[in-house]
Amino acid sequence: MEIDLQCSRCRLSETRIQVVPPSGDLRSPVAFVGEGPGEKEDQKGMPFIGRAGKMLDRLLREEGLARERIMITNTVKCRPPENRRPLPDETCACFPYLEQELVDKLLIVAMGRTACENLLGRAVKVGQEANTMASVQLMGREKTVLLTYHPSACLYNLKAREGLQASIRLVRERFF
Ligand code: SF4
Repeated sequence: MEIDLQCSRCRLSETRIQVVPPSGDLRSPVAFVGEGPGEKEDQKGMPFIGRAGKMLDRLLREEGLARERIMITNTVKCRPPENRRPLPDETCACFPYLEQELVDKLLIVAMGRTACENLLGRAVKVGQEANTMASVQLMGREKTVLLTYHPSACLYNLKAREGLQASIRLVRERFF
C-alpha cells in the first residue's frame, strides 16, 4: 500500500504534526527500520534527524556507509505522544505501508525491540539476539531480517553501540 500523507488509519493521526515517510535511497537493497518518529522528525517530516539519528549518522560514517545509500524508515510513520512505544493496534494499522516499503529489499535491518517484534511477530530480547538473522514472509515473499539495537540505546549503552556498529559493518561488507 502506498503511503497516504493524510492517513488516519490509527489514533496517532490525531496528535502528529505530519506523516514521516521513508528517506534515503528508496531503491536501496537495504532498509533500516526504527520504532517511530520523535519530536524533531514530526516537525520536519524526516526520519532519524534527532539525537538517535545523529548517533546513527555517526556510526554509519565510522563504518564508511553513506546514509544516502540506504533506506531509513520506521515501524509507525506518525509520532506517538510523549514518545511512548507504539501500541499493537497502531503498528498493525501501519504495517501495510511498512510491508510495501520492504517488499523489494534484500536485507531489512530491524533496529530495536519494536521493529524486531513487529517484523518477526514474536517477543525479542535484542540483547540476546542482536546480529542474528531471521526469515519473514512479506506479501508472500521470504525476506531476511537482521536484528540489532536501536540507535537511541547506543546513546548510553556501549554494548548496544558496538552491536549496531557490527550490524552496519556487515551491511557495508555484503552490499556496498
Ligand atoms: S501511524 Fe501509520 S497507520 Fe497510523 S495514522 Fe500514521 S501513517 Fe496512518
